[in-house]
Amino acid sequence: MTKTLLSLAELEDSKPVDIKSVDLVSLSTALVTQFMQVYDRPIILHKNSNSIFIKGDELKLKQVIIIFLDNAIKYSTDVIEVFLESNQHMGILRIKDYGIGIPQEEQSHVFERFYRVDKARKRDSGGSGLGLAIAKNIVNLHKGEIEIESKEHIGTEIKVTFPLTN
Ligand code: ATP
Ligand code: MG
Repeated sequence: MTKTLLSLAELEDSKPVDIKSVDLVSLSTALVTQFMQVYDRPIILHKNSNSIFIKGDELKLKQVIIIFLDNAIKYSTDVIEVFLESNQHMGILRIKDYGIGIPQEEQSHVFERFYRVDKARKRDSGGSGLGLAIAKNIVNLHKGEIEIESKEHIGTEIKVTFPLTN
């Protein structure tokens, strides 16, 4: 919790420092492999290209993917799917789970700091409600967009879109 707080505080007035070309495909592949090993959960990676280069801070981008995978692991028990796609201008990352989902009326709030959907969940998973706020911050710093689509008891899909390196 303290670490996350520090990281958020650090983001408040900092621009990404270490900007370079980052391959979303290799970054995601490495993280998916790690998560599968650590949590012993199936995660399927789908991709329509072998590399998707965006400009950014690799560590911060890594943090975003970790935040999404961490949520998918915590709030579902079934398989998790990761989709990587690119078109002419955009790189798109989607992380989809088949878990508890988020009620419609709560969805607009999950990017707020310390917001958690209900207390029952808090007891189970013990998060601090900062993950998505941090992720949104980082995505904004990279001129990306973040969207969430979720149905209670069906599952959740988080979609992030970044401009490609030209
Ligand atoms: P932290 O990430 O700081 O450890 P957290 O997971 O509770 O804690 P966020 O990642 O910001 O915080 O998510 C906010 C809330 O949104 C969560 O508490 C949870 O209720 C809901 N949520 C986020 N991702 C999912 C998901 N994939 N499925 C269901 N609910 C989710
Ligand atoms: Mg979280």
